[in-house]
Amino acid sequence: MATITFIGLGNMGGPMASNLVKAGHDVTVFDLSKDAVAALVSEGAKTADTAHAAAKGAECVITMLPAGQHVEAVYLGDDGLLAKLPAGTLVIDSSTIAPETARGVAEAAKAKKIPFLDAPVSGGVGGAKAGTLTFICGGAEEDFNKAKPILDAMGKNIFHAGEHGSGQVAKICNNMLLAILMAGTSEALALGVKNGLDPAVLSEIMKQSSGGNWALNVYNPWPGVMDGVPASRGYEGGFLVNLMNKDLGLAFDNAVKNHAAIPMGSLARNLFELHAGQGNGTLDFSSIQRLYKPE
Ligand code: NAD
Repeated sequence: MATITFIGLGNMGGPMASNLVKAGHDVTVFDLSKDAVAALVSEGAKTADTAHAAAKGAECVITMLPAGQHVEAVYLGDDGLLAKLPAGTLVIDSSTIAPETARGVAEAAKAKKIPFLDAPVSGGVGGAKAGTLTFICGGAEEDFNKAKPILDAMGKNIFHAGEHGSGQVAKICNNMLLAILMAGTSEALALGVKNGLDPAVLSEIMKQSSGGNWALNVYNPWPGVMDGVPASRGYEGGFLVNLMNKDLGLAFDNAVKNHAAIPMGSLARNLFELHAGQGNGTLDFSSIQRLYKPE
């Protein structure tokens, strides 16, 4: 069992840290939200007043923060964790951030002989709670092998995508495809319903046909077709439109830098931005269905 510091106890980080505690690791947590910290302490985690104090004595530090600027603020600069962590402390960042931001943190860590992995996740809040997340890691193989037993307590599929930044590249490719699939599925369902089809019947037909995909299988966007998904509770909870927009923005910026054409991804980004602009930013991303079915 390892001594682990977990920073960032939000929708994802809270249940991830909780699974580390349940697995028997010695976990110290830190978050700017006192309520989030208190919830983990009630489950057996320790805490400290600052991120530095929380990371003291840790063999491994894990962060799960909203975006790149938060990750840079926590790790870099004179006040950042890398300035004080001892050489050899394994650092894992599971936030979804730009690949070049992850590479920048990895460089700064390397200068201090601190092994670093970018390890963004897929699987949402449900996967975080169930401990079935997919981890997509970028970094040295040796460090990946050290991290794997720790990540096993929070995830089911642990991938090594390649060198630093590769985890983030794979993650933004996946989420761009997810956005395209969700928008396309919503569009097809709306067309069928306009023609008088029952959305549940159409969903089942497409699921068993060549249009079958993840959205139809486990995350149907049409209200009432599937139990237990955000579409059947007013699109509350789940993976927010604002977070999907963040990821589509990362994919777009990356495509521009790499001269890659992403016509479908760009269209999906515009659809989700339009949707967010209409006041839907804090709904689950399957609410893109509403663009096709004004209520
Ligand atoms: P969240 O906003 O719920 O949680 C972020 C937490 O970080 C908050 O509790 C906040 O107080 C804390 N925080 C911010 N700055 C901090 C600092 N300087 N020090 C300590 N704590 C700080 O976000 P989330 O939904 O848990 O997502 C976290 C990351 O995971 C994001 O990068 C997101 O894109 C990614 N992600 C989210 C999902 C999802 O379904 N929510 C799925 C996959 C990946």
